[in-house]
Amino acid sequence: MFLGLAYALIIMAIMAVLLAKGRMGRKGAIAAAVLTVMIGGLLLGGVPDPVTQFHQAVRGLSLGQVPVQPLLGLALLTALALATGRLFCGHACPLGAAQELMSHATKRKVNIDRYHPRLIRAAFTVMLAVMAVATPVFLSVNPFRFYDLRFVLGASTMFLIVLAASVLVYRPWCRLLCPFGAISELASRRSALGLHRRADCTDCGRCVRVCPTSQPVPGSSMSECYLCGRCLDACRKDCLVFGQRGR
Ligand code: SF4
Ligand code: SF4
Ligand code: SF4
Repeated sequence: MFLGLAYALIIMAIMAVLLAKGRMGRKGAIAAAVLTVMIGGLLLGGVPDPVTQFHQAVRGLSLGQVPVQPLLGLALLTALALATGRLFCGHACPLGAAQELMSHATKRKVNIDRYHPRLIRAAFTVMLAVMAVATPVFLSVNPFRFYDLRFVLGASTMFLIVLAASVLVYRPWCRLLCPFGAISELASRRSALGLHRRADCTDCGRCVRVCPTSQPVPGSSMSECYLCGRCLDACRKDCLVFGQRGR
């Protein structure tokens, strides 16, 4: 767990510096995703795993315990989202990284925005919390646990389903099902740092057209921006910058 957290903080720091210097694009995000799958995923066993932390925190509290480690883990990741938006989700989460890589298999994606993905994710998060109170069974199908490489049938099947779905839908687990996705989206709405348009943006719309989550529109909270770099490559005037956001 400690090594996973250390890796996450290091890759986040590197990506934050590259983003702030305007030296990050789609290829940089892909390189980070490969590293994260290999190190945070395959080498370190799929950590940090906010889904297990969420489950253990809710279950522990429901049993009258104080589950210190999962609560601290969730609090730290939420604090990072408050500070840096979806930087953890974008580059340091092993499951997010696997979905990011699969998303490049094809450019065409099913647009799920019309199906209210945030509502679906919120409902799934509530359902997971209720399930966590009743039973630990969800952990056996938690896709993060694929990285254990014990090849538990439920977790492995779920991981492969998520990967296959990522070809057609951008980050389906993150956007529709992940409980930490719901938490970090809320925290990211007013994050201190984030991607935003500079004042000299010409409103040409190129960045919006390539964004898989329709984020860089005027007035957007950018809370579903996974810092994938597509818009950074698309903007010919370098008008998208990562840094302190206006309030
Ligand atoms: S939303 Fe969940 S699965 Fe997706 S990158 Fe964030 S923590 Fe990982
Ligand atoms: S691509 Fe650049 S110039 Fe065009 S709308 Fe986006 S940020 Fe503005
Ligand atoms: S605004 Fe969209 S295209 Fe740009 S980095 Fe965020 S998710 Fe990617």
